[in-house]
Amino acid sequence: MKGVYILLIKINKNVQETVGSLGKIKFNKGKYAYVGSAQNNLEKRVERHMSKNKKKFWHIDYLLDNKFTKIVDIFYKKSGKSEECRIASILSKTELPVLKFGCSDCNCKSHLFKIRNSDAILRLGLEEL
Ligand SMILES: [Zn+2]
Repeated sequence: MKGVYILLIKINKNVQETVGSLGKIKFNKGKYAYVGSAQNNLEKRVERHMSKNKKKFWHIDYLLDNKFTKIVDIFYKKSGKSEECRIASILSKTELPVLKFGCSDCNCKSHLFKIRNSDAILRLGLEEL
């Protein structure tokens, strides 16, 4: 399957993490949503996000490597790649973007948001994986 996905991530403690080229970023504890897409084999991509001890490639790999960080829920939708940035732009209107995170190849504010209201995720109409 190809499409977009959202990882709902819980950070249990205020942490600081070096995120590749972005450098050190402070993350306050709370819930975050990461928007990504996989144009082939979304299942495998999600499996990769869940696995520990992997080579770091995406910004999200650095965050998920932190021991106080955990994926608590996953949502997905069959779609083309443009949907990924469309969803990120919707979330940027109501949630708190972690600037430039996950945006190495697009012009979004971010693809990672600190969630203020979980309804914002549910309203996007994705399905739970
Ligand atoms: Zn984008």
